Amino acid sequence: MYKTGIFIIVLVLISSCSTETNQKIKEKQEMKQTEKNPLLQKWNTPFGTPPFDRIKSEDYLPAFKTAIKKHKTEINKITANPEAPSFENTIVALEQSGADLKKVQHVFFAVEAANTDDILKQTSKEIQPELAAHADAIRMNKKLFERVDAVYRQRNQLNLDDEDKKLLEETYKMFVRAGVNLPPEKQKRLQNINKELASLSQQFNDNLLSETNDFELYITDPKDLGDMPKQAVDAAAEEAQRRGHQSGWSFTLQRPSIYPFLDYSPNRTLRKKIFDAYANRGNNNNSHDNKKIVEQMVQLRAEKAHLLGYENYAQYVLSDNMAEKPEKVYGFMNKIWPAALNMAKKDRNELAKAMKKDGINETFQASDWRYYVRKIRNEKYQFDESVTKPYFEVNAVRDGAFLLAHKLFGLNFKERKDIPTWHKDQQVFEVTDTTGKHIAVIYMDFFARPSKRGGAWMNELRMQSNVNGNFVTPIVTNNFNFPAPTKNMPSLLSFSQAQTVFHEFGHGLHGMLSNVKYASLSGTNVPRDFVEFPSQVMENWMSHPDMLKLYAKNYQTGEIIPKNLIDKMNKANSYNEGFRSVEYMAAAYLDMDWHTLNDTLARKTLDFEQKSMQKIGLIKEIIPRYRSTYYAHIFGGGYAAGYYSYLWSEVLDADTFAAFENSGNIFNPELAHKYKKMISSGGTKSGMELYKEFMGREPKIDALLQKKGFK
Ligand SMILES: [Zn+2]
Repeated sequence: MYKTGIFIIVLVLISSCSTETNQKIKEKQEMKQTEKNPLLQKWNTPFGTPPFDRIKSEDYLPAFKTAIKKHKTEINKITANPEAPSFENTIVALEQSGADLKKVQHVFFAVEAANTDDILKQTSKEIQPELAAHADAIRMNKKLFERVDAVYRQRNQLNLDDEDKKLLEETYKMFVRAGVNLPPEKQKRLQNINKELASLSQQFNDNLLSETNDFELYITDPKDLGDMPKQAVDAAAEEAQRRGHQSGWSFTLQRPSIYPFLDYSPNRTLRKKIFDAYANRGNNNNSHDNKKIVEQMVQLRAEKAHLLGYENYAQYVLSDNMAEKPEKVYGFMNKIWPAALNMAKKDRNELAKAMKKDGINETFQASDWRYYVRKIRNEKYQFDESVTKPYFEVNAVRDGAFLLAHKLFGLNFKERKDIPTWHKDQQVFEVTDTTGKHIAVIYMDFFARPSKRGGAWMNELRMQSNVNGNFVTPIVTNNFNFPAPTKNMPSLLSFSQAQTVFHEFGHGLHGMLSNVKYASLSGTNVPRDFVEFPSQVMENWMSHPDMLKLYAKNYQTGEIIPKNLIDKMNKANSYNEGFRSVEYMAAAYLDMDWHTLNDTLARKTLDFEQKSMQKIGLIKEIIPRYRSTYYAHIFGGGYAAGYYSYLWSEVLDADTFAAFENSGNIFNPELAHKYKKMISSGGTKSGMELYKEFMGREPKIDALLQKKGFK
C-alpha cells in the first residue's frame, strides 16, 4: 500500500465572530500562535526535514487553519489577476499555491497514521471535512476555472513542452471531474457528499482501530502455543504484561500477533475464536460497527458518479486509470480467477485430509487453513519459516534493499542521527548518488505499536519538484508493523515481511528518484493501477538467489543463506499460491461489485457481500482478504474501485523482471537505466506510454501466469 489519504489541495470556513473586538483579539492570538507554530516556520533542519522534536500534536490544527486561509488568499490573487490568463499566471501559479498547506498536510497525515494520539485523532476528525470543503471550493471555483479553461483552449498555440501540457490537462480534468460544470444546486450536493464521505471514512478507520485494539485472547496453558517460535511467544508474553497480567500470553488482532497463533496453536477452539474476532471487526453491532458506514458510503459514491455523468463509481474512478473501464478490470481478473480457485480447492482438499490424519473428524474451517498450510509445508518441503527468519533480521533486510538500489541505480545510504524523528524507533537515512550529490531523505519506521495503523505503507513528506531551476529534493517514509525486538531477540522477519520491506522501499524509490518539474506530477502521483508496479517489482529481486546471497545473512553467525534453503524456501513459498490469489481476488471482486452499482438503493452490507462472493464461487474455507467492515483500502483510504490494481501491477512487474532475468543479469545496467528513466518520470506521461517506452511494447500477462504456477 502506498500513502494514506491525502487531499491534494484545499478553503477555510471562517467562523463568524460576535464582535469586532473579539475578532481582533482572536486574530492577534492567532498571529502569535502562527509565529510560534513550528509547522509554519522555516525548517532549519538538515535538508529542511520536519522538526519533529519541536512539533506538538496541538500545533497541527492551528497550522491547518492558518495555511488554509493563506491558500485561499493565493487563489484569490490568481482569479483577481488583471492580466489575461496564461500558463504561468494561472496553471503554474495554481500548482504552486498552498505550499504551506501541503507542507502541513504531508506531515500531519504521515504522523497521524504512524504515531497517532487523541489530539491527532480529534484534529483529523475536525480538519478532514474542512479540507474536503476547501478542495471542493477551489475545484468548483467558476472564476478560476474560466482562466484554466481559457489556457486549455489555447493549449496547442502555447509552445508547451510535454510536461507542461500534461500539467495543463490534469489541472483541467481536475476541475471537470470535481463538477465545475454542474449547476449550482448540484455542485452544492456534490460538496456535501464529499464532506460526508471524508468524515465517514475517518469514522470507519477509527472504528477499525478500536475494534483491532480492544480484542485480546489471553491464554495461560503453554500447550495452546504449540511449537510457536520463541520470538512470537516472547512478544505475546510482553503483550500480556502490557495488558496487566502477571503471567501468560496475550494475542491480539494485529497481524504479527494473530498470524503466529493461527499458524501454530493446536487449539482449534481458540483458533476459531481469534479468527472470528478478526473476521468480524466492525461487525459486532456495537458503537464501532462499520456496516452502516459502508452502506452509506457506497450510496453516496454512486450518487456522486451520477452527478458527474457516470453510470457508477467504478466508471468514474477507472476513466482516470490505466485500465480505463470496469469491463476491462473484470475481464482481466476473469482470466486468472478460475485457475486460482481451482488450485485453492485442490489445496483445501489436501489440508482437510491432513486434519483428518490428525484424528480430527470435524469439518475443515477457514480458521484451520493457516495451521495446516504450515504443517504441510513443513512435511512436504521440510521447510519451517522459523529456519529462515535468522537470515532476515530487519536491519539486514533493510541493507539488502539499499544495496539493490545501489546496484541498480547507484544510490548510497547513510544513517543520520541528527535528523529529528516522530518516534524513537524511527531510522533516518540520507540518500546520495554516485557523485555524492544529495538525492533524498528516507525515514524507516519498522515496528508495530498501538499508535500505528495496521499494514505497511509509504508516505511522501515532501514531493520532488523543479520549477524555474529551484530543485526541491524529496523526503519519503516507509512504515511497517513488524514485531519489535525483545530483550533477548532482534526483530527477525518472515519471508513475506522481508518482501514487504522491499515493496515499500520500491514506493520509496519511486518518490526518491523523481526528476520532474511539477510536484503534482512527481513521484507516486501516478494512476492507481500503475503505482504498485515500482513497489511490487522489487519483491522479485528480494527472493532471487543472486540477490539473497548478498544480504540474507544469519544474524548470529553471519553465514549466507544456504542455496538448498533458498530452493526449499522458494518452493515452499509458492505453495498456497491458490489461497493467496483467491483471498486477494475475492476482495478485489468485492470492491468492484460495491462500486459498479448503478443505483443508490439501500443495501445490507452482509447480504451484499455474501451474494458477491457466491457469484464468483468463493469456497467457504476462504474469506476475502478484507471483508467490507474492515476493508480500509476502499472505505478508509483511496483504493475504492482500485484494489484490483495490485494484480494489474503484478502483470507489469512480472513482465519487467522476466526481462531482467532473460537478459542473464538481474542487475542488467542497461535495463536498470531505462527502468530508472521510467519511474523518475512520475506522472508526466500515462502509465501505458511510460511502459511502452521502457519495454518497447505493451505488457504481457504470460510471465505472471507462469510465476503463479497457473500456466
Ligand atoms: Zn504498495
